[in-house]
Amino acid sequence: MVLSTELFDQDMILQCPICHRAMVRKGYWIKSVKTFTCDGGHNEMRLTYGQKIAIFERHRQATDNR
Ligand SMILES: [Zn+2]
Repeated sequence: MVLSTELFDQDMILQCPICHRAMVRKGYWIKSVKTFTCDGGHNEMRLTYGQKIAIFERHRQATDNR
């Protein structure tokens, strides 16, 4: 499975694993970062390729029925 380039300009939900705060980021941002900082102040959390795939997949499923 790959990160679909057609989703790069779309808003996706990124959830902090610590406080579960949901943040909106563009697909290309998610694709390009290795770590992210939560809006709640949790710093430098890793974003693995597997997690990126899961975010893209969740987004794709959520928008499938349009
Ligand atoms: Zn957080």
